[in-house]
Amino acid sequence: TTAARDFVLRTAREHDVKFIRLWFTDILGKLKGFAITADDLEDALDRGVGFDGSAIDGFARHHESDMRAYPDPATFTLLPWRPRQNAVARMFCDIRQPRGQTFPGDPRQVLRRNLDRAAEMGFTYNVGAELEFFYLKNASAPELLDHDGYFDQLSSYPASDLRRETVLNLAEMGIPVKYSHHEGAPSQHEIDLEYTDALTMADNLMTAKLVIKELAQLQNVYATFMPKPISRVNGSGLHLHQSLFAGEANRFYDADDEQYLSMLGKQFIAGLIAHAPEITLVTNQWVNSYKRLIPGYEAPVYVSWTHVNRSDLIRVPSYERGEEASIRIEYRSPDPACNPYLAFSAMLAAGLKGIEEQYQVPAPVVGNVQEMSPQRRQSLGIRTLPSSLGEAINLAETSELLYEALGDHVFNSLIENKKLEWDEYRSEVTDYEVSRYLSTL
Ligand code: GLU
Ligand code: MG
Ligand code: MG
Repeated sequence: TTAARDFVLRTAREHDVKFIRLWFTDILGKLKGFAITADDLEDALDRGVGFDGSAIDGFARHHESDMRAYPDPATFTLLPWRPRQNAVARMFCDIRQPRGQTFPGDPRQVLRRNLDRAAEMGFTYNVGAELEFFYLKNASAPELLDHDGYFDQLSSYPASDLRRETVLNLAEMGIPVKYSHHEGAPSQHEIDLEYTDALTMADNLMTAKLVIKELAQLQNVYATFMPKPISRVNGSGLHLHQSLFAGEANRFYDADDEQYLSMLGKQFIAGLIAHAPEITLVTNQWVNSYKRLIPGYEAPVYVSWTHVNRSDLIRVPSYERGEEASIRIEYRSPDPACNPYLAFSAMLAAGLKGIEEQYQVPAPVVGNVQEMSPQRRQSLGIRTLPSSLGEAINLAETSELLYEALGDHVFNSLIENKKLEWDEYRSEVTDYEVSRYLSTL
């Protein structure tokens, strides 16, 4: 709209903005972008900016390297840690092809398409996120900065100052943080982003990850979102809390249900449960992601749901009557190294499928699913998440649901890219094998 456009131009002038970074995300979830100067902002808003996308991982094939970035005026915000004189702002972009068609390799377009589908059904898809990560001494080895644990209040310097600075910077950028705290593993921390519509949340997550890394670097430490950087302690998850709203009404809320969870919410859970294994390639996309999804580290292994436990894939926190807005479905398998635009697309597609096809939700698990015998799990119909990237690729490759959610371009690029990664990993003889086998076999 012209109001949004004028707001951007006015704010840029008032805050002495000299540079505007135009951001987008590649298929593997890496934040990319380039800067224009304020002189070109008006033109960029009206006509987009051309760039060469051919060198970006999994983005464009060579014959389609000419792209146009259309900055989304709703995402204009200053980068608070950069100088205030000749200041820097950022805008997320929608990527189009030279003739104006949406570019199918742009994850933000993929999510928009899935959200449009939800909107046709009358829903806004809201997501809240718990972002876990480690602060380490540097990027070359997992050297710890503290030995504290869950919710510890001792000020571990520089981590507590870094968390504080991160929360303040994010607030200035319009990204509210609900909680921040030390997490269970040494040097592990968590920042929880307040729920909002899924497109904004995906942008917010991309921003938060950058801010966390940038501020750490300014203190000469390194922040990592690697899913499992250290053996034998918890890895980092990205728990995603989801709900479908129609206007102000939370459609997952039902005052008459014992747990205040509506039929629609149960069908959404059923959709996630039915399709979880085949979408895991997107929520957990790296070889290392599968080192986290093992028993004993508060990460899910089995495809089950519950109201209480933290070892299940899905948790529906219990609430007091009347807290309508807080009824939500927490999906615990994703890790912070996923591409949030694609992860949200796949999760939403799975949940909507459950609603459309009126899937029957299995009974919630009572007791610890990881302590059950395999026979007991089998009799309850509880399946297992893929245990390696290779297994995840096999399940994804034949998934119609994932193909439809991601679209032809992203689906094929992702599968191709991940096969290369898996083949490369498979051909490595690791330190573990040498020390375990060389002298004994
Ligand atoms: N770090 C755990 C994970 O890998 C989760 C801990 C928690 O429940 O917050 O998902
Ligand atoms: Mg946590
Ligand atoms: Mg959680």
